[in-house]
Amino acid sequence: MLTSRLPHRVEPYKLAARAERLEGLMALDLFVRLAEQVGEQAGECRVRLDFAIDSQGRREIRGHLEAELQLPCRRCLEPMAQHVESDFLLGMVTSDALAAELPSTHEPVLVEDEQLNLLTVVEDELILSMPQSVYHDEAQCDVSRDQLSSGEEAESSAPAAASPFEVLKRLKGKS
Ligand SMILES: [Zn+2]
Repeated sequence: MLTSRLPHRVEPYKLAARAERLEGLMALDLFVRLAEQVGEQAGECRVRLDFAIDSQGRREIRGHLEAELQLPCRRCLEPMAQHVESDFLLGMVTSDALAAELPSTHEPVLVEDEQLNLLTVVEDELILSMPQSVYHDEAQCDVSRDQLSSGEEAESSAPAAASPFEVLKRLKGKS
């Protein structure tokens, strides 16, 4: 069973030179930006990172992550469980200028003083791989249930609207 905690910072050049694999967990409550976007999270993110030097001499990280997030439903704002999973390929760079030279297959990650902030890397990937918007099924969503009942009331009290067939007839008459 995978229970080890990933370090928050690593020395990626050394890991790449040794073609090492890091595998472990990161607590979701470490991710401040994630919480700002979708609310406080509990549980863990499972992460696997393979460090390597490719045939062109580029230092890269092939990664995989998985997490169970609680994302707010866009209709009722109640959290709903959402499985998030992502595969990614990162190229290590020491400056923005070098990032521009990376092939489009690689996302740049900034290495400063031979250190890589894994916390930032994993949080970035997690945020990128989240669905833009999630909705409950209508039967489970608080808002649509409210809307359904209020919608019926509104319909009975509102002045009768032209039926779609009437509108169609009028449109046809014009042409
Ligand atoms: Zn909902």
